[in-house]
Amino acid sequence: MIIVMSSNASQEAIDRVQAEIERMGSKPHLSRGKFRTVIGAVGEEGKVDESHLASLDGVEKVVPIMKPYKLASREFHEDDSIVEVGGGRSIFGVDVPKVLVGGNHAACFAGPCAVESEKMLNTIARHVRDGGATVLRGGAFKPRTSPYSFQGHGEEALKWMRECGDRLGMPICTEVMDTRQVELIEKYTDVFQIGARNMQNFDLLREVGKTRKAVLLKRGLAATVKDWLLSAEYVLSQGNRSLILCERGIKTFEDSIRYTLDITSIPVARQWSHLPIIVDPSHAAGKRDWVSSLALAGMAAGAHGIIVEVHYNPAEAQCDGPQALLPEMFRELMGQLRQIAVITRKEFAEAGELASV
Ligand code: PEP
Ligand code: MN
Repeated sequence: MIIVMSSNASQEAIDRVQAEIERMGSKPHLSRGKFRTVIGAVGEEGKVDESHLASLDGVEKVVPIMKPYKLASREFHEDDSIVEVGGGRSIFGVDVPKVLVGGNHAACFAGPCAVESEKMLNTIARHVRDGGATVLRGGAFKPRTSPYSFQGHGEEALKWMRECGDRLGMPICTEVMDTRQVELIEKYTDVFQIGARNMQNFDLLREVGKTRKAVLLKRGLAATVKDWLLSAEYVLSQGNRSLILCERGIKTFEDSIRYTLDITSIPVARQWSHLPIIVDPSHAAGKRDWVSSLALAGMAAGAHGIIVEVHYNPAEAQCDGPQALLPEMFRELMGQLRQIAVITRKEFAEAGELASV
């Protein structure tokens, strides 16, 4: 349930409500909106005495949240959440720029599918940064359908990603596949990417929820929007509020494309949840010819940006070559996305100054 505080409630009253929720064995979660503070009492049902909370000083009303997900719901936080990506200092002592995602802030995450070598990463990163991306993506640990396919360069690739991001003034985003990798990846990354196949790896969700790094949660191949928001709830319930949803296509009967990008999920998720949402047109399309159209459609439907794969020599890519945009295609797409952003009242940040490292 949520406890809506009156607009003039004192800090003392807010503290008291939180303490009472804890005393009843539940967890309080604070949400400060433009006009008032809302406190979520989340935990097992039936533990919290509603009428007692309603009688406390400064409480306007106590409302049950009907949706199965609570902290992810619009009821809990009525304004769009704005997630901060980056900021702080990297493991190599470099100041990482902060990129905002959500509300009227749109962002573009771009880079290779997998980090194949330091040289290819640096070349692609330079292309995407010059083309308008503000966050660098790249897989160091790859979830592959076949155990015999290239699995990623692991920690070495994380180092290349961090150094490259630091040099170009870009926060970085990389996939974490297993709870055992969280500690290592946390040292390097700004965003933990949770892949579609891991959307319901609940232990992994809890583990990244304990960190304070942003999380990009891809929608599972066969997950409903409700399942997806319940997975987001796992992360939020651990105290990590920096979560970005990512629609990347679902399995349908259609076999002309790799997955069907579910454009509908964007307005649905935005109505049900305050969390920012971006689209991944690359994995849905599976083929570069269709990537830009899907990106534009996602943006027009209300997404807060995209995550897209780019390669200068896709024929030799070790992973997902056919869907990688060529650098010039990416640049053109960014120009078009900026135009759609105007209509949907969003703005893509410009890349920052190049760091002198
Ligand atoms: C990826 O981003 O390279 C990836 C494997 O994505 P997904 O989990 O959506 O398939
Ligand atoms: Mn990929």
